[in-house]
Amino acid sequence: MNFIEKLSNNLTTISFELFPPKKPEGWATLYGTLSDISKLSPDLVSVTYGAGGSTREKTIDLVTRLKDELEIEPMAHLTCVDHSRDELEVILNRLRDANINYVLALRGDPQNPSQGFEKNVDRFEHTSELIRFINWRYNFITGCATYPEKHIESRCIEDDIKYLRLKQDMGARFAITQLFFINENFYRFRELAVKEGVCIPIIAGIMPLLDINQIQKFRTLCGCIIPDNLIEKIQKSPQNIVEIGIDYAYNQCLDLIKNGVSGLHFFTLNRATSVVSIVNELNKIIK
Ligand code: FAD
Repeated sequence: MNFIEKLSNNLTTISFELFPPKKPEGWATLYGTLSDISKLSPDLVSVTYGAGGSTREKTIDLVTRLKDELEIEPMAHLTCVDHSRDELEVILNRLRDANINYVLALRGDPQNPSQGFEKNVDRFEHTSELIRFINWRYNFITGCATYPEKHIESRCIEDDIKYLRLKQDMGARFAITQLFFINENFYRFRELAVKEGVCIPIIAGIMPLLDINQIQKFRTLCGCIIPDNLIEKIQKSPQNIVEIGIDYAYNQCLDLIKNGVSGLHFFTLNRATSVVSIVNELNKIIK
C-alpha cells in the first residue's frame, strides 16, 4: 500500500524530512543518511524548499534522484512566497514531468521578517491559494502544514484550524504538523479540528533533540513548547542529549500510536542516528 492509501486506512506511516545541503560537503552526510533511512523502508521522504526558490534546482534534483535511483517515494516541498504564478507553474511542470506524485504546499517566510510580504496580484498570500492553483491544474497529491501549538503569526489556535479547514477545502489530502513535544497539545488541536470539519489525516511532526542550542531556536522560530521535565533532564546531563532525545521521541511516538495517530513524520536535519534508532524500535510494533 502506498503512503496515501495507508493514511486513508489508518495504518501507521513513517516519513522523513531532509533538506538539500548548502555546502558541497553536506551531500556526503546526506547520502549516508539516505542509505541508512532507505533500509527502514520509509513510506515517504520529503525534501524541503528554500523559500523564494533558493534551493529550487537542488530540491527538484533530490526528489528525482530519490524516485529514480533509490526507488523511495519522494515529496517535494514548494513555497509560494516570492514566486509569481508563472514561476510556480514552471516548477510544478518539472515535478510533474519527473513523475513526482506528492507536493507539500507551503507559504514560506519573508526573507526579512520585519519587512513582511510584498503585496502583488501575481503572487499568492496564503497556502490555501497555492493549493487551489495546484489542484486546478495538476494531479499531485497535495499536503499542507499545520500548527498544534499555534503558528507564530496567528492570533489563536482557532484561526489555525479555520485555515487548515480552508486548505482541506482547496484540496489538501493530509497535513503535517510543526514539531511539538507535548502530545496533549496535539490531541487538543486534533479534537478542535475535527469539530470544525477537518477530516484529512493530521500527521505528527517529530524531532528528536540533538543539540542543546536547538531549544531556544525552536521556541523562537517555531513557537513550540518544550516541557520543563525534558529541559531539566538535559541540563542535568547535557552530554547525553542525543540519548535523552531518542528516548523522549520514542515514547512520544508510542503514545501517539496508542492514541490513533497514523502518520509520524521525522524532521531529520539530515542526520540518521536518532531517527534510525527510534524507527527500528517502532517497526517492531507496527510492521
Ligand atoms: P499559511 O497556511 O498561509 O499560514 C500562514 C499564516 O497565515 C498563519 O498564521 C495562518 O493562520 C494565516 N493564514 C492562512 N490563511 C489565511 C487567510 N486566508 N487569511 C488570513 N490569514 C491566513 N518553510 C520553507 O520555507 N520551506 C519548507 O520546505 C518548509 N517545510 C515545512 C514543513 C512543515 C511540516 C512545516 C510545519 C513547516 C514548513 N515550513 C517550510 C515553514 C512554513 O513555510 C512556515 O511555517 C510559514 O510561516 C507558514 O506556512 P504555511 O504553509 O502554514 O502558511
